[in-house]
Amino acid sequence: MTIDSILPIPELFSAKRILCIQPHYDDNDIAAAGILTQLARNGTELFYLTATNDLMGVIDTSLSEEQATQALKQDQYAAAKIVGVKEQYWCDYPDAGEYNYFDLRRDFLKYIRMLKPDLVFAPDAWLAYEAHRDHIQTGRAAAEAVMFAGLTRIASSDPDVDSTYEPHSILGVALYYTREPNYIADITSTWEEKIAAVRCYKTQFDPDGMEQLAFALDMKSQQVAQGQIFPRGEPLKVLHPSALHCGI
Ligand SMILES: [Zn+2]
Repeated sequence: MTIDSILPIPELFSAKRILCIQPHYDDNDIAAAGILTQLARNGTELFYLTATNDLMGVIDTSLSEEQATQALKQDQYAAAKIVGVKEQYWCDYPDAGEYNYFDLRRDFLKYIRMLKPDLVFAPDAWLAYEAHRDHIQTGRAAAEAVMFAGLTRIASSDPDVDSTYEPHSILGVALYYTREPNYIADITSTWEEKIAAVRCYKTQFDPDGMEQLAFALDMKSQQVAQGQIFPRGEPLKVLHPSALHCGI
């Protein structure tokens, strides 16, 4: 018996439902739209959950909060059409603002118990030099919510969801924005879709900013594929839920 047989690294393409938890409207797609598009085409149901309202990144300062939210959602729906996202959910915490970690975790527990995903995507909260608190809190709360989903004494933000929840097993987490990947997804076949999805986020990038982002993603996708047999990749740290505690 090996540790891999006890805590197998989940096979992404075996997942029927995936919940992708992101700090801001565009993070899932910037980090992982290549592999997520392939998963959706493979028949996986994709659900996106966005932690914050993302308003701080809106470049047109003349927009009211309501107009800005509408514009952000339009961008997100356009990208979702390309990637094949089934449903979007939002927690609406203040972007780059003050909010409680445990509230965030309670909301993530709610959506995990409600949607019963086989896999959860989230940012790697342990990325060295990650300075954006929304990313650290979202990644940490998502990982903890995966670990605690079956422990219904730990309440979610919705008592009705908790009372009707029947425990299900989560295969694992796939952490994106990571510098310690154990899996490089071959995104060669969906690179065009990824860039097209990212280019939908016009509300938060001016044309120059978008070109810089596209260029950086282009370079990065090739850099992470060095040594692989394919030219473009997305790095992920894919972990069994039990690997999220005590370093086992
Ligand atoms: Zn972000």
